[in-house]
Amino acid sequence: MAACIFCRIAAGELGTKFLHADADVLAFADLQPQAPVHVLVIPRKHLVSLAQSSGQDDALLGHVLATARSVAQQLGVDTSGYRVVLNTGSDGGQSVHHLHAHLLAGRPLGWPPG
Ligand code: AMP
Repeated sequence: MAACIFCRIAAGELGTKFLHADADVLAFADLQPQAPVHVLVIPRKHLVSLAQSSGQDDALLGHVLATARSVAQQLGVDTSGYRVVLNTGSDGGQSVHHLHAHLLAGRPLGWPPG
C-alpha cells in the first residue's frame, strides 16, 4: 500500500469521485475547500513537487495545466475566472508532497495570497 495519500487516491483505495480521470492525470474535490470550487489536479506519477520535477515531466505538467482548464470549463467557471496554484516546498505552503495544482473559483480571490 502506498504511503502517499494522493498515490492512494490515484490507486482508487479511498473511493474518490473523480471529475476527470485519464491514464496520466486525475482531478478531484479538495477535502477542505477554500472556495466554492476547489479542485485538485494531480499526475498519477508520484512527483514530489514542481521543484523536484524535471524536463522529462514537461509534457505531464502541461497535461496537468490543460486538465485544470478543462475542469474549469466543465464546472462553468471559465468565464467568471479562476486561479491555478501549485504550492511548492516549505515557503510555498506545500503540505502534501505529491505535486498537485489547486483550481480555485466561485468567488473573487484576494491578492496577494497569505
Ligand atoms: P497543499 O497545502 O498545497 O499541499 O495542499 C494540499 C491539499 O490537499 C489541501 O488543500 C488539503 O485539503 C488537500 N487534501 C489532503 N488530503 C486530501 C484528500 N484525502 N482528499 C482531498 N484533498 C485532500
